[in-house]
Amino acid sequence: MVNASKLAFTEVRMSNSMHFVNSGDYLSTLVSAMRRNADIRGRIKALHVSFRFSEPSVKQLQSLLRMASNLEDLSLRIPEYSRARWGRLFQHLRLRRLELFQASAPHFFLANFLNHHPTIKYLTLESCQTTIDACGMATVSLPQLEELSAPMACAVELIGGIHLNRVKVTSQSERDEAVPITTFFAAISHPMTPLTSLSMDFNSFDYNLLWRIARAAPLLSALKLQEKPPRLSVRGVRWRRAWNNARQWSKDLASLSRLKHFDLATYAPVVKQAGNEEKELAVVCGWVPESGAHMLNNITLLYGKGSKSSTLSFFVRREGRWLKTTTDNSFNIHNSDDDSSDSDSSDIAEMTDL
Ligand SMILES: [Zn+2]
Repeated sequence: MVNASKLAFTEVRMSNSMHFVNSGDYLSTLVSAMRRNADIRGRIKALHVSFRFSEPSVKQLQSLLRMASNLEDLSLRIPEYSRARWGRLFQHLRLRRLELFQASAPHFFLANFLNHHPTIKYLTLESCQTTIDACGMATVSLPQLEELSAPMACAVELIGGIHLNRVKVTSQSERDEAVPITTFFAAISHPMTPLTSLSMDFNSFDYNLLWRIARAAPLLSALKLQEKPPRLSVRGVRWRRAWNNARQWSKDLASLSRLKHFDLATYAPVVKQAGNEEKELAVVCGWVPESGAHMLNNITLLYGKGSKSSTLSFFVRREGRWLKTTTDNSFNIHNSDDDSSDSDSSDIAEMTDL
């Protein structure tokens, strides 16, 4: 009786449209249920496969993916998988409705798979794990891509001339560091790349950063800048940043005429007294005057990063006035204004407690 009710319960969970697969047992249960029931196979829209200290059988995972004919979202985080296993998994795999894809696989194994999935709109590339020659992203064409999150060196290979709305680039390796910022801006300034959202790391000495961004991506509505750990600690230049020239900084911000959200994270102390509301508001109003036509109404500042006085402050502009708020209004590349993706949490199956 207990077994029967557990089986019935499992069948109900199996019929959900989103599954988190993080154990071999659950993978087997799901594959068996899919083999038995065409309805379960057809209902699966999203799979999040995550194994931290173990690895799923390639054969079972392959069966699961091949049966999930309506799959739209696929995330594969399997750090223990060998190159040979990734190669076998992606071989001849075709998911005709795939829109969102993320995998911890070396990029070498992804290029061919991506080229067979032109329906992808949202792509997250994790660590490259290959040399630039073997990365393969330069050969990838994704005509419907809207959102990309990737290491800088791989992103510039992929971006050239493709239509994109949202980009997040990170510096993860020396190869990413070696990419000239001008190369990145040349890639995103293509007329086919009407960026509305950009998240990127910057160097403390990138004094023209905002100016370059405004020229390369004038349609931005959301911008997130995260400072890389500074290498220089020479007295006098240690805390010199682009915004120290408030007039130029304000002018560059104003040239992003559609900007609504601006997030900045820096190691520098933006105000002398960390957390002092009056001083913080004076800085914010110096950057974005209360009078004047602009759309910016959300600013998030993380300053003094890495120090004891590290401070996170949120500001909103209401009826023309800037106010400090306790509400976290920072933006994420995956939940920015025009993100149309949605998920129904009531329709999610957890795989851990069966
Ligand atoms: Zn790569």
